[in-house]
Amino acid sequence: MSRVAYVNGVYVPLRSASVSIMDRGFQFADSIYEVWAIRGGRLFDTEAHMTRLQRSLAELRIMQPMNQAALMAVIRETIRRNRVTDGIGYVQISRGAANRDHVFPAVSTKPTLIVTAKNLDRAAIARRAAAGIKVTSAPETRWARRDIKSVNLLPNVLARQEAKEKGAFEAWFVDEDGLVTEGTSSNAWIVDANGVLRTRALSHDILHGVTRGAILNVARKRQMKIEERPFTIEEAQAAREAFITAASNAATAVVEIDGVRIGDGRPGPVTEALRAAYLGA
Ligand code: PLP
Repeated sequence: MSRVAYVNGVYVPLRSASVSIMDRGFQFADSIYEVWAIRGGRLFDTEAHMTRLQRSLAELRIMQPMNQAALMAVIRETIRRNRVTDGIGYVQISRGAANRDHVFPAVSTKPTLIVTAKNLDRAAIARRAAAGIKVTSAPETRWARRDIKSVNLLPNVLARQEAKEKGAFEAWFVDEDGLVTEGTSSNAWIVDANGVLRTRALSHDILHGVTRGAILNVARKRQMKIEERPFTIEEAQAAREAFITAASNAATAVVEIDGVRIGDGRPGPVTEALRAAYLGA
């Protein structure tokens, strides 16, 4: 089955889907995006992702290309046309195509909207969660507004590639104070040596992960000890457990950081319980 993309009002074969070379997303990374997980045909955390998308647009003063209900209808239709049951829905909205100029284009410039959806290898994701992943650390080199889900992802790409070349799945950025901010496409967590669930507090330093919020809710319901406080790589290496959260990976255990084994080198009970509760929710 050939895949279909929604581009500025029309559904087109993915192979021939395109936007202008003058698009500000291409020229300046002047663009935001959002990713929804789809499991068993169901969109996860639908509202929270939509709310974050609206916030990203507002922070960058990019116009909404259509209202939320219409956008949701396009997302669902794109998922349907691509027969996605387990995968992701992707939306990107740029400030539109205009003569190349750093300042914003005329207000009449229409934002560019693209929507795609694809199935992911469900078995591979399950295997990854069962085995746990390896993480490497990388210096934090991103801009100061990591809370905006912009396509300004070059440092993330470079850190992730370096992680892959070192045999790891994810990289954790470490700020100038030696504290982990987050992963290249996930939030970072530990169950520290005292059994406290820890993840960095929300600020401009990290993306406000929707899965992070959902996992925190699960943990609160279970009356776990929680601290929204950052940690160092050394603390993570000495932790009982470590894991990442992201729409496409739910909660996935980290079993090695910079070559140091975490706990007994297998996914721990807290991570597994949180993952199961979240996926079952
Ligand atoms: N942090 C970064 C930098 C990300 O790119 C992502 C997701 O892609 C996340 C965290 C996790 O966010 P979410 O749980 O909303 O997928």
